[in-house]
Amino acid sequence: MIRLTIWNEYQHEKINEKIASIYPEGIHTAIGKGIDSTEVEVRYATLDMPEHGLTEEVLNDTDVLIWWGHRAHREVADEIVDRVQKRVLQGMGLIVLHSGHFSKIFKKLMGTSCDLKWREAGDRERLWVVDPAHPIAEGLGQYFEIGAEEMYGEHFDIPAPDELIFVSWFEGGEVFRSGCTWHRGQGKIFYFRPGHETYPTYYNKDVLHVISNAIRWAAPRHGARPVYGNAKPLETISPKNET
Ligand code: ZN
Repeated sequence: MIRLTIWNEYQHEKINEKIASIYPEGIHTAIGKGIDSTEVEVRYATLDMPEHGLTEEVLNDTDVLIWWGHRAHREVADEIVDRVQKRVLQGMGLIVLHSGHFSKIFKKLMGTSCDLKWREAGDRERLWVVDPAHPIAEGLGQYFEIGAEEMYGEHFDIPAPDELIFVSWFEGGEVFRSGCTWHRGQGKIFYFRPGHETYPTYYNKDVLHVISNAIRWAAPRHGARPVYGNAKPLETISPKNET
């Protein structure tokens, strides 16, 4: 089983009627109910919960963390951000969605501003698969489309991704690196662009398919535990004549 925690700041859905009508139980619940949950154990965490729902116990019990935030990035306690970063470095997978590009955790892991262009005009978005052999692209066609979305445009101020899986084209003319991966420590990170709160993007079957693939890709593989520090030789080291 993959132990998945879906974190959502869960604010827009409670204060905006339009957004509440799209996501009556919150974006986190829509994702949790929409993904392929075969062999995935889903748990939810939100900003208002004690320790934002991300206690040591919850994080130690999480293989993959999904992050959605927008209006309340600053309300996320630094102590919790440090705790999430530590778990990523230990091997927990992290999937950062849409406006999570400006979350404290993403910026901390990237080390850059993570800034970008944006426009809320209902652009059609076409996501081209540029790495068809990548596990996150498994089962997709050459591209898929979202009828209307917020536009995110280059330049996206991120470190060069380890792998680029999707490039988005928008009706207004911009392009964007919309599916990127990085390794940090033992952890795998996937940034996936779609998911503005005023559009029903997290009901789109292709978007859910990508998130489902990403959960499986980001899950830790439990390889050898790294050992650091002073090391005894495995073989006898022959004496050398010091000159
Ligand atoms: Zn947005």
